[in-house]
Amino acid sequence: MDIEAATAIHKIQEKKKLVRRSSLDRSQKIRRIVQWLFVALNGWLGIQFILWVRYCEHGGVGLDVPRPAGAEGWLPIAGMMNTKYLLLTGHVPAIHPAAMVLFIAFLVMSVLLKKAFCSWLCPVGTLSEHLWMLGKRIFGRNLRLPKWVDIPLRPLKYLLLGFFVFVIGAMSAEAINEFMSTPYGLIADVKMLNFFRDIGQTAAIVITLLVLLSMLVKNFWCRYLCPYGALLGIASLLSPFKIRRDAEACIDCGKCAQACPSNLPVDRLVQIRSAECTACMACVAACSAQDALQFSLVPKKAGTPAERWGRRALSPIAVASVLACIFFSLVVVAKTTGHWQTNLPREIYMDLVSHANDATHPGM
Ligand code: SF4
Ligand code: SF4
Repeated sequence: MDIEAATAIHKIQEKKKLVRRSSLDRSQKIRRIVQWLFVALNGWLGIQFILWVRYCEHGGVGLDVPRPAGAEGWLPIAGMMNTKYLLLTGHVPAIHPAAMVLFIAFLVMSVLLKKAFCSWLCPVGTLSEHLWMLGKRIFGRNLRLPKWVDIPLRPLKYLLLGFFVFVIGAMSAEAINEFMSTPYGLIADVKMLNFFRDIGQTAAIVITLLVLLSMLVKNFWCRYLCPYGALLGIASLLSPFKIRRDAEACIDCGKCAQACPSNLPVDRLVQIRSAECTACMACVAACSAQDALQFSLVPKKAGTPAERWGRRALSPIAVASVLACIFFSLVVVAKTTGHWQTNLPREIYMDLVSHANDATHPGM
């Protein structure tokens, strides 16, 4: 055996020694817990919201619950409009301020921690993930769309986002305020609930199709259609934290790329800049080489892998903590400064909600 071959074998053996024996999927367990806590929070808000709507619809009869402003997290377009209003006027809008606060919170998360909102918090993202896992269990695998289908479909979410940005971009602060003050704007959240309560045949077929496609193709909705995810993906390009691979420590097994739900070639890149990376850390969990893959700030140039990553690699607990800090600190500030609730008299809400079908979009 020549020296070169012996050196190569030695290098491989050295790398194998570094194989981790500890539980590899701890990050995924922590992420699942965070996902389900957020689903539970949304479920709790949803139940409160439905009870409040029913109370208003029945003219003040039934369980008297306050309107949960947190449900406005489901109004990202109102959030975007209100953020523009804030930027133009310097004033927090009076209608749906919580939509704006949550929109900003999710944007800040993306600027710091890639699209972590999508894989750690978004209930639709959680549902998507469980649908493809269910599909994998039923059909044995998920489909990976061929490039000639995948590439033309991927800009769709950016086109949808472009449409909203174009429409909102053309609105002045007065126009935003006028829109929000219309019956439709005031009860946009109730209109959304009613859309699902009285779902039409076409919408039901589309949703069923999306569910089926999500079982076959990983994160079909998120990958191709979600304009919110598209926006957060663009914001995530600024994130200082990225998935980074240490080529020295890497044993070229390719498990990270196989594990990536966004189909990113993690095993061939030094860092993942892609707007599709959701900081789910599935690649890190799948990696069996010590310190080869981390969600971290720029690594140092010299030293052992552990030294190079230093303390700048984020653990899953740290990711969860940063997300929780951003979320709760903004919500608490908004609540304590009186910029959380839409302060509309109960009688007006009762009137609007009981006549929700009459409230049509002002542009129609
Ligand atoms: S892409 Fe959209 S639906 Fe998917 S996880 Fe992100 S925000 Fe949620
Ligand atoms: S690169 Fe890693 S963190 Fe990013 S989406 Fe893929 S598996 Fe998740």
